Amino acid sequence: KLHNTILELKGNIRVFCRVRPLLPDDGGRHEATVIAYPTSTEAQGRSVDLVQSGNKHPFTFDKVFNHDASQEEVFFEISQLVQSALDGYKVCIFAYGQTGSGKTYTMMGRPERPEQKGLIPRSLEQIFQASQALGAQGWKYKMQVSMLEIYNETIRDLLSSNRTTSMELVRADSGTSGKQYTITHDVNGHTHVSDLTIFDVSSIGKISSLLQQAAQSRSVGKTQMNEQSSRSHFVFTMRISGVNESTEQQVQGVLNLIDLAGSERLSKSGATGDRLKETQAINKSLSALSDVIFALAKKEDHVPFRNSKLTYLLQPCLGGDSKTLMFVNISPDPSSAGESLCSLRFAARVN
Ligand code: ADP
Ligand code: MG
Repeated sequence: KLHNTILELKGNIRVFCRVRPLLPDDGGRHEATVIAYPTSTEAQGRSVDLVQSGNKHPFTFDKVFNHDASQEEVFFEISQLVQSALDGYKVCIFAYGQTGSGKTYTMMGRPERPEQKGLIPRSLEQIFQASQALGAQGWKYKMQVSMLEIYNETIRDLLSSNRTTSMELVRADSGTSGKQYTITHDVNGHTHVSDLTIFDVSSIGKISSLLQQAAQSRSVGKTQMNEQSSRSHFVFTMRISGVNESTEQQVQGVLNLIDLAGSERLSKSGATGDRLKETQAINKSLSALSDVIFALAKKEDHVPFRNSKLTYLLQPCLGGDSKTLMFVNISPDPSSAGESLCSLRFAARVN
């Protein structure tokens, strides 16, 4: 297997921390920033301090990106991991953090500003470029893409031609929708989600329009369902099947890119009713994810994949020789210090 050095040193789980810049809408002034950046001359290091009420909380991760790390610099650090999906590995890259901490910026970026494109478009460009280059060595690849959302433990297809509306989502939630989106894993370690739309893709142009369709489909829910996009997990999946026509070698890789629901806790959102139910579903699935990654990192015999839709969906891509990277996104806004501390502790647990 080629291009496979990034994760060889220490298990298959990595945690990168990214602190976004202070924004005009943040409550705090610049000098009140709560994150102490690494003092090295490099833009990025491995440690981050969070100062809250005069107490300093130090954390160390596999990499820390501070507020001026560009999208290109961040992508540079994951490009080998993305490449390994072409070599037949199963890869998951998550963005974790409270709403407004920079998850979507990290994953999608601002597609209309080329230098601010996020990891998803950059990864796909790399995969298509690299697959063409490998064509010279006899490799032929087939790529398939699906995009779904998990909201209140219910799967919603973001590429369905008969657009799933929020109403349908509500019905699906109460078990009366025709579409079940049942998750199964076959003996070859492939995941199937019944009724899920899957597209064969052979160009970056096709994927870009699918990403747009998915974004539109998410925003439909957003207006009707209380900023749904920050209350649901977005899962982009690309399956890559490669066969070498001269050596007959075969590879089956999967690249999952996941923009998680906001991790903010109940007290801050002051939740009641539907909102309470949402928050409980999010908390449940994020702690299930943490439990799974923790169990894998500790090489425990029992890994509780079945405790949430997200972990069950991703089961074959989280264990074994698959590779996992978690971005913990942090807002430097002093008023977010409590949530930031929770996010850093979450990430430190799985690191
Ligand atoms: P989340 O998806 O976690 O809710 P967003 O990605 O939407 O957060 O980020 C919140 C705001 O901060 C957006 O306006 C986004 O453009 C901006 N932002 C986030 N990270 C960065 C960054 N590294 N550089 C510049 N702006 C950023
Ligand atoms: Mg977001």
